[in-house]
Amino acid sequence: MNIVSSLLVTVCLSTMSKYHQEFKKEVASLEDRKKLLLHVCCGPCSVYPLILLDKYFDITIYYTNDNIYPNSEYQKRLGELERYLKMIEDEHYVKLVIPESHQEDFLKAISKYKDDKEGYRRCVKCYGLRMREAFKYAKSHHFDYCTTVMSISNHKNANYINELGKKLEQEYGIKFLISDFKKDGGIEKNNELNSKLDLYHQSYCGCLYSYINNEKK
Ligand code: SF4
Repeated sequence: MNIVSSLLVTVCLSTMSKYHQEFKKEVASLEDRKKLLLHVCCGPCSVYPLILLDKYFDITIYYTNDNIYPNSEYQKRLGELERYLKMIEDEHYVKLVIPESHQEDFLKAISKYKDDKEGYRRCVKCYGLRMREAFKYAKSHHFDYCTTVMSISNHKNANYINELGKKLEQEYGIKFLISDFKKDGGIEKNNELNSKLDLYHQSYCGCLYSYINNEKK
């Protein structure tokens, strides 16, 4: 059984999200500010998580999103993220790292799952590829923690994301910050902030296959 299939089984057997409770416990235990590498997929998903996390961490964003197709969309989402960071820079200083993009490698890696419905194997693989890149960077740059904002999205499964994060923590020896940013009113706060900021909201998740499905609607 490969890692994607075994993860799907693990998650199906597990109880539903206690991840937000674990997040609260973890941040309450911190005695000082820690260095956090935060994977961010786009501006709109980062709005509330950044404000929440800035209370506890010195944040560096890692914009590793080889999934986003076409390149003009990748640039557009990055531009909106940069615009948001500029808006909050006086109150929340956040560093942004933009690694080289390898969109063709990403497509090769997920193509065998191209016919899966959104939210299944293709997406688990996609979360894992991007989170692994973040962990590699966090390891080589001596971060205390690594996590992703993706759990804020109603379209992404927080269970898969957190179980992947726990595996990567073991592999790289960097603490994974468990989260479910939707909880505790997170999704409402994120939506409210977004509507005030007037950020660009994409109409599809990101990859070529989600783009094609969106075009068919
Ligand atoms: S639908 Fe979204 S999460 Fe799933 S593979 Fe495509 S970009 Fe990744």
